[in-house]
Amino acid sequence: MIGVDEALGRVLEDLPLLEGQMVALPAALNRVVAEEIRSPRNVPPFRNSAMDGFAVRAADLRGASSTEPKRLQITETIGAGSVARGVVAAGETIRIMTGAPVPDGADTVVRVEDTENDGDHVAVRVAPVEGSHIRHPGEDVGAGEIVFERGRRLRPADIGVLASIGVAVVRVVRRPRVAIIATGDELVELGQPLGPGQIVNSNAYTLAAAVEDLGGEALVIGIVPDQPDRLRAAFERGLQADALLSTGGVSVGSFDFVRQILADLGYEESFWKVAQRPGKPISFGRRAGTPVFGLPGNPVSSLVCFYVFVVPVLRSMMGLSEIHLPTQRAKLEVDVKSVGTLTEFIRCVVRASGDERMVRPTGTQSSGVLRSMSLGDGLIIAPPGCELLPAGSEVSVLMLSPTIGTSEPPL
Ligand code: AMP
Ligand code: MG
Repeated sequence: MIGVDEALGRVLEDLPLLEGQMVALPAALNRVVAEEIRSPRNVPPFRNSAMDGFAVRAADLRGASSTEPKRLQITETIGAGSVARGVVAAGETIRIMTGAPVPDGADTVVRVEDTENDGDHVAVRVAPVEGSHIRHPGEDVGAGEIVFERGRRLRPADIGVLASIGVAVVRVVRRPRVAIIATGDELVELGQPLGPGQIVNSNAYTLAAAVEDLGGEALVIGIVPDQPDRLRAAFERGLQADALLSTGGVSVGSFDFVRQILADLGYEESFWKVAQRPGKPISFGRRAGTPVFGLPGNPVSSLVCFYVFVVPVLRSMMGLSEIHLPTQRAKLEVDVKSVGTLTEFIRCVVRASGDERMVRPTGTQSSGVLRSMSLGDGLIIAPPGCELLPAGSEVSVLMLSPTIGTSEPPL
């Protein structure tokens, strides 16, 4: 049986890179940039005022102070969006608002707060440093500058940067279409009454949500009973997608047909079983280059396998530069026992305590208890070879939720 790191290495081999598509701006949020984006223009496009005040020549104000203010003649007033008719000549000033183009002749802006209005003149009480309060063309982004490299996931500020450089449509990586098949005779669709021995097909919902959360498109094929013909038909459909996830039927039960059916359809299994808990019976392979995961049926097992293996695969296909979920170091609040022979992923709650990050398990670690996944923030990674993680020791936590601890005001 292979270990988690070996399995990770294998799932990441030879993955296809999805092609790009053009998407208009607001919709490009959270999408991954497919080719580097250069700015076609300077931002700001022109020299402008950073303050409401007066455009001046610094030389006119040498020696100005509150006791000996210098008087300048106001020749006009410009707001943002308008351009001065004239220039600032010696002894003159143009009243200017934030964002308005600095008129020719002026080299400095003086803040309103440092002046006193006096009819068509202004008294300036400071001797400004030349160039103060002026924003220069290209100061934010220069024409020709690369603003985003490929592999960048676009955030709200990025969308604003693109708008500011005048780029309305960007090439982003196509969203991966991920087929989801839930196998099991016991499964019932959400909303249907439960008969004896039946349970709701929750995995399809969990995985569809996880795929969408990651920026993929979930194609839920639905419930397929443990019958070879039905499985074959469903997998044939699922294999048309960019990646296929199935749950259940990959263990050693009498009705676990998934691996056999996949093999009949040309699936080349790269591994079956990983030395981990939960999620040991996972099967991974490829059919004509398409990555296929036969995930275990237990709700926690399939979701843990998703976070550990499917996330980096889909992110890599999307061309993202960061493919793994982040890990953080945290201090254990209690002793934690682990199997020792396997890598164990222990559902946990992380909280901030002063400068430290503390972590404790969520309680029962049964792989059927999805609630403990929902209550947790992450997974403590207990490496093979350690049977006891003592209270107070530092552990690595795979973070599933970006927020930890409290949500207090930042200041
Ligand atoms: P299996 O891997 O098929 O042996 O299933 C292991 C356990 O997971 C069994 O208790 C199944 O009932 C449960 N299970 C399988 N598929 C699902 C599903 N889609 N939603 C919720 N539980 C499931
Ligand atoms: Mg089953």
